[in-house]
Amino acid sequence: MILKRKTIKSEIIYEGIGLHKGENIKLKLIPSTFGGIVFKRMDLPIEKRIINLAPENCFDLMRGTNIKNEYGEGIYTIEHFLSALAVLDITDLIVEIDGNELPIIDGSALEFVNLIEKVGIVDLEEEILPIVIKEPIFVSKEESHVVILPYDGYKITYGIKFEHTFLKSQMQEFEVNLETYKKEIGRARTFCFDYEIEYLKSNNLALGGTLENAIVIEKNGVLNPEGLRFEDEFVRHKMLDIIGDLKVMNRPIKGHVIAIKAGHFINAELCKKLKKI
Ligand code: ZN
Repeated sequence: MILKRKTIKSEIIYEGIGLHKGENIKLKLIPSTFGGIVFKRMDLPIEKRIINLAPENCFDLMRGTNIKNEYGEGIYTIEHFLSALAVLDITDLIVEIDGNELPIIDGSALEFVNLIEKVGIVDLEEEILPIVIKEPIFVSKEESHVVILPYDGYKITYGIKFEHTFLKSQMQEFEVNLETYKKEIGRARTFCFDYEIEYLKSNNLALGGTLENAIVIEKNGVLNPEGLRFEDEFVRHKMLDIIGDLKVMNRPIKGHVIAIKAGHFINAELCKKLKKI
């Protein structure tokens, strides 16, 4: 089956708070005919604006997926947005942004999917070749592992494990397609532990973080008054993240991803390996 490159039908404008700086961010998505996913920092001088989506441009992967250009100018927390682009098969897009991070919205990716579906998606002339996994590829670092196995489709099996009184281990598996994503994955919100908040804020991180855009886990439950969207929302969010992190390749994947205690750093290492096949 021939897969076509895709873009959006018309421009989308969106405004929302960024997680780390807590500032209002204006986002403009513009249809593109070729050239992949390109971010443009509209708050910078014209020569420093462009940041291309590519594995070699990823940096500082402790708390999110971030990319930078040769001038060191970056965009932070792109993984939820990329996750939405991945399930919508969008390969070509110009993303104008007037700050250095994506809006966090509710901490999930569903609103990005909704915004794009509202305007629609168009096929471009050019074909896109999927990454077809022919033999197992893996990356391990201490207790974190990601493996991709040959598989006729795109499937993710994910396991998380924490030494915590409330959040222990969770395991989940889904075929990755738009229908399943909207129902089971895209709504899962990002999370952190209550004891991390002081550290984050004292390092000028998560300044825009509230119970409206993240789940905060305490000793015996969550601080969010509305509770969880799924009992295993945490592992589902990690699935959302890895779908976004692998979108850095900007090619569809044919394979079965098995991730154990994975994260942005190890996912980026996997992308570097995938780039070689
Ligand atoms: Zn996330």
